Order: sequence, then structure tokens, then C-alpha cells
Amino acid sequence: MARTRLWTASVGLAVALTGGTVAAGSRPAGTCDVRIPDHVRVLDCRLAATLADGMARSPSLRDLVDRIRELQGIVYVSTALSVSPGGHHVLLGALSHQVAVAGPYRIMRITVRHDYDDRAVATIAHELRHAIEVLQDPAARSKGDVDLVFERIGYRIASGVMETEGAINVERTVSKELQASRQGPPAVAIRQVIVTRPGPAGPALFLR
Ligand SMILES: [Zn+2]
Repeated sequence: MARTRLWTASVGLAVALTGGTVAAGSRPAGTCDVRIPDHVRVLDCRLAATLADGMARSPSLRDLVDRIRELQGIVYVSTALSVSPGGHHVLLGALSHQVAVAGPYRIMRITVRHDYDDRAVATIAHELRHAIEVLQDPAARSKGDVDLVFERIGYRIASGVMETEGAINVERTVSKELQASRQGPPAVAIRQVIVTRPGPAGPALFLR
């Protein structure tokens, strides 16, 4: 039940907006024309474009995505009108402690509120860091295992909601990188990344 589900989350105010639900990744052209690495599966095309833009501008975010691939993680990112695990706390985003195991891969799920700006990118970075915290423990293969991970490395900020310093720090770093990129030259290269059409299978090319 949602009431008993533990989440690890970004705390903030929720704003209800609308959004699409088109899948991204290595989908056929025309479905969602955004390239992001296939192991981060954003179930909202506009958010996928936002994340691709963020990856082009934040080295730390790219490192997070690379690390999840190295750890054989697959992370689904979906949006919600309100992120409120258990209905008691309104959050910017959350990582479900549920884990699905498929061969060598562990599959996790992040939910972020409908939002499509740098704030959303930083929130995803925060939650990706939580996913890495789980994936770094080879024994974390169930909800109970993940609960134990965050009991060990994190602290409780509200009933059923855990937090870690690592996630807070990486969110802050990514926010600074995104802000700094806004102060640079016009982002012609960033647009090139966003509009790249899906090509042969393989990792997406991102500028460094
Ligand atoms: Zn957190």
C-alpha cells in the first residue's frame, strides 16, 4: 500500500500542470524525437527533452546517468500532478523503494511533479543519485533491502520519507552547473543535442 511505501525524496511544493505521456529513449522517430540513454526511460516526452537539455549543460548529471549504466540500472522517470507518497507530504520528486530484477539489471522508478525547467532537472539528478545509492549495494534487490540501504546511509525527514546528504549535494552541484550554463554563450550546441534524430542503436552522443 502506498501508505506504507517508503520513498526517498526531494521536498517542495507541488504544482499541478498538464503533460504528455509519450515514451522516450530509443523509440522510433516521430514517437518522441529526443535522444537520451536508453537506461533512463522518461515517460513524458517534454520532460525527456528537458532532461536532454540538462545533460548537455551539466557534467555532473551526465556522470550520474553514466554511473547508473555502469551499475546495470534501469530507471523509469514519470511525472505526476502531485508527488505525495502516502498522501502526507508534498514532494518535488521521489524514488520508489520498489525494485524489479530482470537478469543482471535492477529496475527502479522515479516520480517527479509536472515541471519542465532547471528545477525539474535538478530534482531528477537528486533522485538519480538515490538510485545509485541503491544500485551500489549488490544486495539491494527488494523493497525491504532498499529500506535497509536508506536506514543505513540516510535519515528520516518525515514519516515514510528518507533523505541523504549525497543527493542533496549532487542536486546543488547540478543546479549550479545549469545556472552557470545559462550565463555562457548561446546554447547552439544544446539545441543540436535535443533535436538529434534517433540513429543506430548505441549510446546517445552528448557534448562534453
Ligand atoms: Zn532525497
